[in-house]
Amino acid sequence: MPQAAYSTHGPIALISMNNPPVNGLGYELRSGIVAGLDQALADPKIAAVVLIGSAKAFSGGADIREFNSPKALAEPNLNTVIRVVESSSKPVIAAIGGACMGGGLELALGCHFRVAVAGAQIGLPEVKLGILPGAGGTQRLPRLIGLEPALDMMLSGKPLSEADAVKVSLADTAVDGDVTAAAVAYARELVAAGKGPRRTREMSVAGADRVGEILAARRAQLGKVFRNRHSPHVLLDAVRAAVELPFDAGIARERELSNQVERAVEGRAFRHLFFGERELRRIPGLPADVKSRKVAKVGIVGAGTMGGGISMCFANAGIPVTIVDAKQEALDRGLATIRKNYERSVARGSLKPEQLEQRMALIRPTLDYAALGDADLVIEAVFENMKLKKEIFAKLDAAAKPGAILGTNTSTLDIDEIAAVTQRPQDVIGLHFFSPANVMRLLEIVQCAKTAPDVVMTALDVAKTIRKVGVVAEVCYGFIGNRMMEPYGRVAGFLVEEGATPWQVDKALEKWGMAMGPFRMGDLAGNDIGWAIRKRRYVEKPDVKYARIADKLCELGRFGQKTGMGWYRYEAGKRDAIPDPVVEKLIEDYRKEQGITPRKIADAEIVERCIFALVNEAARLLEEGIAQRASDVDMVYLTGYGFPLHRGGPMLYADQVGLYNVVRAAQRFAAESGDKFWQPAPLLAKLAAEGKTFN
Ligand code: NAD
Repeated sequence: MPQAAYSTHGPIALISMNNPPVNGLGYELRSGIVAGLDQALADPKIAAVVLIGSAKAFSGGADIREFNSPKALAEPNLNTVIRVVESSSKPVIAAIGGACMGGGLELALGCHFRVAVAGAQIGLPEVKLGILPGAGGTQRLPRLIGLEPALDMMLSGKPLSEADAVKVSLADTAVDGDVTAAAVAYARELVAAGKGPRRTREMSVAGADRVGEILAARRAQLGKVFRNRHSPHVLLDAVRAAVELPFDAGIARERELSNQVERAVEGRAFRHLFFGERELRRIPGLPADVKSRKVAKVGIVGAGTMGGGISMCFANAGIPVTIVDAKQEALDRGLATIRKNYERSVARGSLKPEQLEQRMALIRPTLDYAALGDADLVIEAVFENMKLKKEIFAKLDAAAKPGAILGTNTSTLDIDEIAAVTQRPQDVIGLHFFSPANVMRLLEIVQCAKTAPDVVMTALDVAKTIRKVGVVAEVCYGFIGNRMMEPYGRVAGFLVEEGATPWQVDKALEKWGMAMGPFRMGDLAGNDIGWAIRKRRYVEKPDVKYARIADKLCELGRFGQKTGMGWYRYEAGKRDAIPDPVVEKLIEDYRKEQGITPRKIADAEIVERCIFALVNEAARLLEEGIAQRASDVDMVYLTGYGFPLHRGGPMLYADQVGLYNVVRAAQRFAAESGDKFWQPAPLLAKLAAEGKTFN
């Protein structure tokens, strides 16, 4: 079957797009559309043309399989196809069902009329990808629906339903049922009424008289909605061209701005994120034909912070969950917290009251391990204690059915050791969720020495089902994310020891784009957790040096938000971190005691030291095979650690700075601090010497 099939229904020609899964506008499909149109125009019996996709998609836009290949730009390119369609002397009607996104909508905007089918999703999501609609979208959409509605669509990236598309005059009519029949009937009506082509490019922009005021107001909002982002500003420049320039000049301006945005760091970062997510499932050593196991029922052990959040993830996906805890009070508390979380969503309007009840009904609390007997997957989330986890895994091994997968949410313990207490180490895997588990997108999937390939595949599929980004790692202390956090936090501690305040360090990193600096993060997560880990490390790794101020803070019981004070102080019931003179004094006393003369530290040095600490440790993770590829490390930081999206993750950032420069900085820090950590990781040094990059 050709990618664009041609058929006739009396005087109406039908061009059916057929490039699964979403009618990506690749070379063959683009050529087919033009050929179909030529055929219709050459046939005197044809009076109008309907362009139609599948039930799933009119078109999802560019064909991502063509990205970075010459075919993506080969003529007829998308701009050409749209121009040919718009120039047609016979009316062309887009029959829009399913997804009509990005380039797909730009094609529909070039058609003369639009029929939208129930369930359609019509939008320009480019802003979310750090790019611009680059095939006339910024010029045609304002002409078709007016300046304000077009800006709403393009700046939110959110799709419209068929009914909303009719409301803003993006679609001429909405239909239900047999789409082909409805679109052909609509085309016949147009022909009967003697309607010819109605070209979007010939329309004028409603709201053009207030363009200055409208764009200024939008620009003022951008700083809040898109912190540190540049492409939304460029989008406004393109839209201004739609108002101020003749159509063809506007298109040329859009092309110029769109190229500029794609070449910019932000454009590269978002593409990296987009493709990085698709790479995650390529696991070396995983046979291509491996099938995942069925997961229809889930068990959770531990109804605390994590167990509760993880249960919500599954209930949200419609999967029944049995939660086991050791104490009835813990179960009651856990269930009450889950309900409270859902009630908050109901109050916010993002969940309907009946959905709350449906989800609660899927969660069954019990004290009895035997109730886990029919679960396909059990996830343990009890206290972080090896002895306890081993006891639980022995119990789970006895209670769970053969073939059931046993996962642990441990943050730091050796999962191989946990797996060894079971008779089924091949079914044991780490499933490291992040707090709050029902919100954070990251899921580290930790493959143990004996984990079976189909268990890894199942974990990747489960991640998808519960809408997480599953990144596969191997067993080591802290896996990918927290292992990198360790030197990052250590370096931040030294910066304070040497002269910065915690709030200067936090502000410098937050200004650079991190969602939260390391000290605010410590206060949020609980400084006692890091304290406990350090105490172990002082014994196990006596050669690794730490600034001991954090210990002094913990000795005062300043564990963070939960105790009302940590690095900062907090007012009752509030989360605003307030710099505290008590902490400043503590730091000054500590420096005196250690004989340290504080120095002035620039924000740029703070950022360089902290971020390069992440990069150097990540290079070691790659060498050791703990992480599969640099983009996986970036995915972990972008989805789990509030790393700024527009920078594309620590590894892409290092690539952009240039690995040669990263190595030189690390050598300088090594010389200044005498800290062995700063010896450039061999992989980093090697890539830098060869002039290569991580990604
Ligand atoms: P938590 O203290 O909130 O909850 C632990 C729960 O386990 C409690 O409800 C407790 O009653 C229950 N429990 C204890 N012994 C049990 C037993 N024998 N049988 C059944 N239930 C038992 O702890 P948490 O913060 O949810 O952490 C749980 C695990 O998740 C830990 O391994 C932790 O390292 C890991 N983790 C925590 C975070 C986080 O930010 N809190 C993030 C990622 C991973």
